[in-house]
Amino acid sequence: MSTLPPARIGASLDEVETPGLVVDLDTLETNLATMARRVAQITPAVALFPHAKTHKTTEIAHLQMQHGAQGICCQTVAEAEGLARSGIPAVMLTNQIVSRGKARRLAEIARRTTLFVCVDDELHISVLGRAADANDATIEILVEIDVGGGRCGVTPGTRAADLAELTERTPGLHFAGLQAYHAVAQHLIARADRETAIAGAVAAVQLSTAELTERGLACGIVAGAGTGSFELELASGVYTHLQCGSYAVMDVSYEGIEMDMDFAHALFLLTTVISSPGAGHAICDAGLKAFSVDSGLPVVHGRSDIEFVHASDEHGKLAIPDTTLDVGTRLSLVPGHCDPTVGMHDWIVAARDGVVEALWPVLRGR
Ligand SMILES: *Cc1c(COP(=O)(O)O)cnc(C)c1O
Repeated sequence: MSTLPPARIGASLDEVETPGLVVDLDTLETNLATMARRVAQITPAVALFPHAKTHKTTEIAHLQMQHGAQGICCQTVAEAEGLARSGIPAVMLTNQIVSRGKARRLAEIARRTTLFVCVDDELHISVLGRAADANDATIEILVEIDVGGGRCGVTPGTRAADLAELTERTPGLHFAGLQAYHAVAQHLIARADRETAIAGAVAAVQLSTAELTERGLACGIVAGAGTGSFELELASGVYTHLQCGSYAVMDVSYEGIEMDMDFAHALFLLTTVISSPGAGHAICDAGLKAFSVDSGLPVVHGRSDIEFVHASDEHGKLAIPDTTLDVGTRLSLVPGHCDPTVGMHDWIVAARDGVVEALWPVLRGR
């Protein structure tokens, strides 16, 4: 790890270096338990594979395993390596791999861990197949279909079945099923819009599984869902694996979504007021290099009288029309978007009742 830990175990949260990311363990564990309860209500059972891109730490992944998960999803090879090395028995890389170097690293993982990887092109299949075969490994392949999100994924139906057939003919690979994640649906505000989007996703899955069945190919897995839509995939009777991520810690971007939100903010960015020149504003030490702004600026936790109004590289501007803030005041921010914010930090401080309980390295790199 390239940077010093931002705190020592047993210290008060007031001693954590800022800007620094903190996870509140009680809230995190409550969120994980809530998801475990939701999933357990469904029969036939659906497998929970929480997405680790949200937190990028093996420790939270293991907490998720203790809360009913059967495996863990990730988005980078570095995350997959960290998860596998830490003993997660099943890892699902919900991404496409083109590089031979990355394919070799994945084949190495697949020798000891059940590893799923997504494909939506013949090139992915040949690169992964060669690496797996040369390493005496088997990689489980999910053919990704575009269910309406417009990101990765082939057209549902014939093309998906063609890639499944090619996978089955390729030494080192095994066709396991479909990846059917609807990225755009997650943040649709109106529940009715999410229902329409996921109904479309279900139809796309059914079109594809019908084609697979016709060709005699077994489709054991249909994976998808995120925090915004998972109740719909859960109820569909078609999805077998759920890969929600944000539910573990939440963020501002999920606040406006119309749903039964049982999940609470567990991820905070601690910041210190470094300048307080008056004139209705103060400056803190958290800026664009401490949080992502793709989903908006952070919100100051528990302080509706302070508004985070502007960010530059290492400065944040706080509007305080009706109050003053002393230099040295510490504040907690709720990030606009949890996942890319975590990716900017080397450590997450795990705290309970204001005391540092653990220090977790973030799985950075690719
Ligand atoms: C981000 C992502 C998820 C998790 O979505 P959340 O909205 O964070 O719950 C699941 N699957 C894939 C492929 C993703 O990219």
